Amino acid sequence: MKLLEEMIVKYGKVYPNDVLKIDSFLNHQIDVNLFFEIGKEFKEIFKDCKPTKILTIEASGIAIAFVTATFFDNCPVVFAKKDGALNMFHDTYHADETSYTRGSKKYVEVSREYLCKDDNVLIIDDFLANGEALNCLLDICRQAKCNVLGCGIVACKTYQPGLERIKKQGYRVECLAKIKSMNDGIEFE
Ligand code: 5GP
Repeated sequence: MKLLEEMIVKYGKVYPNDVLKIDSFLNHQIDVNLFFEIGKEFKEIFKDCKPTKILTIEASGIAIAFVTATFFDNCPVVFAKKDGALNMFHDTYHADETSYTRGSKKYVEVSREYLCKDDNVLIIDDFLANGEALNCLLDICRQAKCNVLGCGIVACKTYQPGLERIKKQGYRVECLAKIKSMNDGIEFE
């Protein structure tokens, strides 16, 4: 997605441990016009899909999933919660994630009330690096026995193992910006 790539090049900052900071428009401050275009792009890519749920993970996935859902007849968005929130006392599907940006283990859960075997699920997230977050969401979908239509990712670092790891499992993964290197400036595929 050209606009997204331009913004990554213009505002992105590369931090140690291969962390790309794009806080000024995606992960902290939100560029509403860009998000609208991101939602539209995911709709175009997944136009043949009829999701009954859009699934993401807190926190940065929520706004992206929300704007995407507005292009799919306001399909409900479910976001996985992290670290055993006190208000999650009902029955949940759960998985463990090693957080890329925090380096710590996170307990990730979704209430059984909001995901079931009849659901057709589109998964949306901001970044794909080692594939931990996406793997957790897919694990939760397997527990729910629901049908996964595909995964839409805003920015994927293709030189890291996540994309291959998830594709190898047979899932469809679509990325709006594919970053092939951040060694000497940010380069896209
Ligand atoms: P993974 O689980 O695939 O290793 O990493 C994906 C998750 O870690 C995303 O949900 C995102 O929040 C975070 N993440 C991974 N790499 C980056 C990065 O380069 N920049 C930012 N801002 N977040 C990242």
